Amino acid sequence: MSLVTLKEILPDARRAGTAIAAFNVANLETLRAVVLAAEAEQRPVIVQTYHRLLDTDVSGPIVAAARWLAQRATVPVVVHLDHAGKFEQIQQAVAQGFTSAMLDGSALPFAENVALTRRAAAIAKSAGLSIEGEIGHVAFGGGECALTDPAEAAEFAAQTGVDALAVSIGTTHGYYKAAPKLDIERAVVIAARVSIPLVLHGGSGTPEAAIRDAVRRGGVAKVNIATEFQHCFSKRAGEEIAKAGEKFVAVDLLLRPVVEDLTTFARRWIRMLA
Ligand SMILES: [Zn+2]
Repeated sequence: MSLVTLKEILPDARRAGTAIAAFNVANLETLRAVVLAAEAEQRPVIVQTYHRLLDTDVSGPIVAAARWLAQRATVPVVVHLDHAGKFEQIQQAVAQGFTSAMLDGSALPFAENVALTRRAAAIAKSAGLSIEGEIGHVAFGGGECALTDPAEAAEFAAQTGVDALAVSIGTTHGYYKAAPKLDIERAVVIAARVSIPLVLHGGSGTPEAAIRDAVRRGGVAKVNIATEFQHCFSKRAGEEIAKAGEKFVAVDLLLRPVVEDLTTFARRWIRMLA
């Protein structure tokens, strides 16, 4: 039984100056690749899903499959909901069997973010889930980032009781137009004031040396990788479909090399953060 919460793996990772990779999965191939990679590297891992899947008929089966794989895995696996924006989505996460959830109130004013995250943390914890919050704002799709203020981060962590805290130190979601410059010293100052593990969103395309520095010195113990991992799927799947052309290839066989590529990709990240 290796189904765990963030609380069971992140504090140790932070103490060791390492981080756990968190990959966004959306089907059986992406999910299996993450667990295969973690077992090959003998490291814990986090599988997470986009919050928009919650209201579809994909979420339930993916969570069930993730739990099935985690329970049989030789390494700890967290099944985490990424970027829930509403209290009701935390209730859905509990009902669907996630072991962890993020409540992202980072676009709200400070007091509202605290109030919503505190409510989410209470219900998550009472159901045995771990909870991640966000202070400062990591932008999506070219929006404006708000770098995390260390004093606010300390206040937020104390008032909400979250198990992990996503911070904004220069990364954004999606691909970059130019390589980002991370404010590692900001992470170092935050880490000195906040004892819980920090989370870095926007791993895709961020220079590895900066990520490693944030992990070693800046208290970052969870790094999210969605864009590049998902793109790895679509690029290879496109090649395999083109190769098959009009010829019939059973879908599981068609996607086998895709799973192999995804596993190789995930292993590299897991190793890089260890
Ligand atoms: Zn994110």
